Amino acid sequence: MPDQLILRVAVPAPLYHCFDYLPPKGVGETDLLPGVRVSVPFGRGDRCGVLLELLHAPRIEGRTLKRAHSILDDQPLFRPADLELLVWAGRYYQHPVGEVFANALPVRLRKGQPPVPVLNTFWKLTPLGSRQEPVTLKRAPKQAQLLRLLAEAPDGLTQNQLSSHIGNCLPVLQALMRKEWVVAFEQSASLTAPSAATSATYRLNTDQRQAVDAVDLECFGAYLLDGVTGSGKTEVYLTLARRVVNAGKQALILVPEIGLTPQLIRRFERRLGQGVAVLHSGLGERERERAWHMARLGHASVVLGTRSALLTPLPRLGLVVVDEEHDLSYKQQDGFRYSARDLAVILSQRSDCPVILGSATPSLETLQNARSGRYHHLQLTNRAGDAKQSPMNLLDIRSVRLEAGMSPVLIEKVRETLNEGNQALLFINRRGYAPIVTCHDCGWVAECRRCDARMTLHSASGILWCHHCGSQRRLDPNCPECGADDLRSLGQGTERVEEVLAQLFPEAGIVRIDRDTTRRKGSLDKLLEGIRKGKYSLLLGTQMLAKGHHFPDVTLVGILDVDQGLFGADYRAAERMAQQIIQVSGRAGRAEKPGRVLIQTRHPDHPMMQLLIKHGYKAFAEEALAERQAAAFPPFSYQVLLRAEAPLESAPRAFLDEAYEQGVALASGRVEFWGPVPAPMERRAGRYRAHLLLQANQRSELQRLLPQWVGFLAGLKSARRVRWSIDVDPQEMF
Ligand code: ADP
Ligand code: ZN
Ligand code: ZN
Repeated sequence: MPDQLILRVAVPAPLYHCFDYLPPKGVGETDLLPGVRVSVPFGRGDRCGVLLELLHAPRIEGRTLKRAHSILDDQPLFRPADLELLVWAGRYYQHPVGEVFANALPVRLRKGQPPVPVLNTFWKLTPLGSRQEPVTLKRAPKQAQLLRLLAEAPDGLTQNQLSSHIGNCLPVLQALMRKEWVVAFEQSASLTAPSAATSATYRLNTDQRQAVDAVDLECFGAYLLDGVTGSGKTEVYLTLARRVVNAGKQALILVPEIGLTPQLIRRFERRLGQGVAVLHSGLGERERERAWHMARLGHASVVLGTRSALLTPLPRLGLVVVDEEHDLSYKQQDGFRYSARDLAVILSQRSDCPVILGSATPSLETLQNARSGRYHHLQLTNRAGDAKQSPMNLLDIRSVRLEAGMSPVLIEKVRETLNEGNQALLFINRRGYAPIVTCHDCGWVAECRRCDARMTLHSASGILWCHHCGSQRRLDPNCPECGADDLRSLGQGTERVEEVLAQLFPEAGIVRIDRDTTRRKGSLDKLLEGIRKGKYSLLLGTQMLAKGHHFPDVTLVGILDVDQGLFGADYRAAERMAQQIIQVSGRAGRAEKPGRVLIQTRHPDHPMMQLLIKHGYKAFAEEALAERQAAAFPPFSYQVLLRAEAPLESAPRAFLDEAYEQGVALASGRVEFWGPVPAPMERRAGRYRAHLLLQANQRSELQRLLPQWVGFLAGLKSARRVRWSIDVDPQEMF
């Protein structure tokens, strides 16, 4: 029998393999390029998949393939190199390849819709139009306004840009077009504001210059840019990106989820000019997709975005930067559990370009890679400009009377700071009013009905709220156990601290930044802007306030409570605590004014805390690495976590027991299996959760085991009664 042409398609479905189809009717081999989207029949419906390859294979008796419906793109969206990387990532993270592609595609394309055009309609003045005097248009004020706007934008403006100034403007534009004062033309969408002014560039200091010069832009190399907070890492990125862009290549800059503020975007746009495509979830679907096309077509020379920007196809990639590389938001925690930081290194390797991992508090993984010589280690040891590192002091709060978690010393220092006309920042990593509500008579504690967790009181609305599953209920005035009306809240979250601060400092402008005050789109940016403009003098917040921001007037940072980190269940708890302390502390004294940092603790003698405070992050990290090595934990070994959860208590265990037996049989002794054990919070959102941890000295041992093992798991009967997932290089153990 003659060969037939087969399309191998990555179809979004929870299955690990690709699917084969016959080409659509009338479509021949010459019309087909890998990387286009294909609409295919799947189950009882249709799906939009991505064509991975074309094969010729003999017809097999009794096996008839379905025919694909249609090809959705004229040109491939992914080049062969992009396809390879994504297929590789699917295999490495053991995630169904079709779902990996779904993650990489903008929403509309994922749904099979046609690509948005990258061309935009622009309007500009004709020579005749530019000779008109707007003042003569007294009776047509909108026309006059349009003329003025267009006179200032010789490159033209889109209708959207015009409407943002004067509302609906199409009729006005049409009127002006009839007079032949304006014309419309098509051009690739402008990526940045048309009047991008250039901003001051600094002379790089010696450290910065050495870091820049150490990077070889012509070939792959991984570089840890290890620079204290405020040392000018961003200037190093900007200088390197500029060189890459001037050489006609593209730079990809990744930032953590809450790091992508308008301020940072403007800084990049100003310095790198037009051609910065910004990719983040705040954009509308079409806007975001347009930026994605500009990137993949090579029109955008710089792509700035959060985690998923890494999955954007970039044809001329010349540099990848991962800012704050230690940040947890680079790891996707559900579905396709990839690490954008780790994939950035793979991507650079495949693109033969450098990757810069920047942080003041590098992850122990990255530090170890630098120590072992796998990564180049670049250091910026001083703050840029005239700023100095702020000294850190521990405040022993054992047997001290606290007011909403604040010691008298801390309150006094806040007062001094405000009196000097400076800003103070208080950090507490818990939102809400109080984490515990209890009955003073019988000892009842408000707990979530669906989780093994307490409810947090949110007093603004008088509700109890579970931070783990989101369930809410009203707080009754009487105890549900004994009926007494003496319910009390213990401990504090940001709301209570805010309330007490308002009593202590009635004159001060207080701003609270946490998930509750920043829920609405754009609200975080507005609050940050207010801080920068000096509208607030007392800043209070969770880790949202800790990251990356540059507040020149903050001279005091107070950390209310860090002790959970010292004794956390997770072996990474100490690392996270240290990173948080250093990052929060880094908000103090970033400009000319010197700063100070006060850290409240009940364990002032804890050796890790002492090390961090007295000798800094580097010394702490050395010690933490030694501990990890002694315990053979990552980065000295590699892990995979198999999680399972179900409403039925026995189901996860039954599944994990089978997984364990088969895993041990397949692994032939070179992989350790720990568990199965219940998750630290066993019941969450009404489901019982358990996991099984795999650890090996070599990545390859795990990678060898996984495909077969996961295939086996997918076929288990007990797997149908649980929700299960594989997490390669897990960052969190719950
Ligand atoms: P980081 O990213 O390391 O925290 P930034 O790049 O944000 O640091 O720089 C911190 C501050 O120092 C910024 O206000 C920046 O404008 C300033 N700065 C950076 N490099 C220099 C330099 N070479 N000379 C003077 N000021 C600088
Ligand atoms: Zn009671
Ligand atoms: Zn809950």
